[in-house]
Amino acid sequence: MGNKFLESMLRAAVKGGGIGETAPLAGFVDIEGVRRTIESLRSAFPPHFQHMFAAKANSMSPVLSLVREAGMGCEVASPGELEQALRCGFKPDQVVFDEPAKTLPVLKKVLKTGVALNIDNFQEFDRVSALLKETPSPSRIGFRINPQVGSGAIGAMSTATSSSKFGVALEDEGNRKALLDRYLQHDWLTTLHTHVGSQGCSLQLLTAGVRKVTDLAKQINEAAGHAQVRVIDIGGGLPVNFESEEVTPTFADYADELRKAVPELFDGEFVVKTEFGRSILAKNGCIVSRVEYTKRS
Ligand SMILES: *Cc1c(COP(=O)(O)O)cnc(C)c1O
Repeated sequence: MGNKFLESMLRAAVKGGGIGETAPLAGFVDIEGVRRTIESLRSAFPPHFQHMFAAKANSMSPVLSLVREAGMGCEVASPGELEQALRCGFKPDQVVFDEPAKTLPVLKKVLKTGVALNIDNFQEFDRVSALLKETPSPSRIGFRINPQVGSGAIGAMSTATSSSKFGVALEDEGNRKALLDRYLQHDWLTTLHTHVGSQGCSLQLLTAGVRKVTDLAKQINEAAGHAQVRVIDIGGGLPVNFESEEVTPTFADYADELRKAVPELFDGEFVVKTEFGRSILAKNGCIVSRVEYTKRS
């Protein structure tokens, strides 16, 4: 948000009672700014890229409805976020479900709803496989992969170190073969997902993870003899510059890096999904609180 915009917004909010004695704290979202940001995302990538908004960045209903109307799908990581997304009008095929530890009742619900499902581990795979034997599902399903490309500058926001807990660790002994076997034996496995991390991750780290998962998709498809993996979900994680109002890196910067590292994602061989959260909202909102007292000591 630019300072001029912020000032006029605050004046209007104070005048209208949105912030004041009985409302000392308020959050603001720049609706036009969000629309512009989503437009810059969509124009940075070709049309076979489908962009999901990571609901954890801001799961309030008006925000979810806003990003939906601006053309995004939704990535959710809990049953609550899933409910919220469906309530805000996302169609099941516009939603990706990424909860790390899915209970059996939640898996049943997800498969029934038909939202895309990213399986976290081999035990979860066994549950899903058993459920599908009972009842077929319209969900697009595949594994989440930890490409183990290392940590960014902030450990807590890096999800692709050798011991990160999300997804199947690709380089751990036996896992690549176990994945290949699962895909070759189960034709309902048609997607692959990765999310390298968020704030603090360089573009090179993000694209290195996407490179590894794309290579895995090609390895599976070659072994299967046909294009079994059709969707690659490359996650989110574009870092945000919190030091100034400048937007850096931009979605176009990321697209350039991705085109260099994984050119085949741009030729339409795969449907590509993304899951950006922070980078859609961070520059387009703020929390404002009223100062009651100022003290010195
Ligand atoms: C947090 C998260 C995202 C979004 O990350 P941002 O840094 O907000 O873009 C996407 N996918 C998954 C699985 C996540 O956990």
